[in-house]
Amino acid sequence: MGAIEKIQCNNCEKSWELLTGMGKRHASLANISELYPADVAEQLTKYEEMPGVRFQFAMTPAKCETCKAFVSVPVVFVKTDEKKYTGVCPECGKSVQTFACVERCKCPECNEKKLFINKIGRWD
Ligand SMILES: [Zn+2]
Ligand SMILES: [Zn+2]
Repeated sequence: MGAIEKIQCNNCEKSWELLTGMGKRHASLANISELYPADVAEQLTKYEEMPGVRFQFAMTPAKCETCKAFVSVPVVFVKTDEKKYTGVCPECGKSVQTFACVERCKCPECNEKKLFINKIGRWD
């Protein structure tokens, strides 16, 4: 089950709502591959055909410098060959930086480090 998380800036009051974690449909690499650009999707589809392939998936918060926004991107770690595939910004299609701790990030709107994150719900 995934979480709905709200990132809010204490300085400029801007906020972003993100879907994080994984849903039921993400148990399949075929479904996950639909979240990626064509070249990565093709690679993921190849894994789908490998017997006993093991992977870990999560929608992960990321900061898009182009859109000046927080977005949620797919990250899949394929354990079988130790490779990690991070998705692109759903708005502009550029690559983004995921982060472990939002409190250490600067607000894309006002550039202050006054962000906090709250779980506000669940999805799937
Ligand atoms: Zn701000
Ligand atoms: Zn973007």
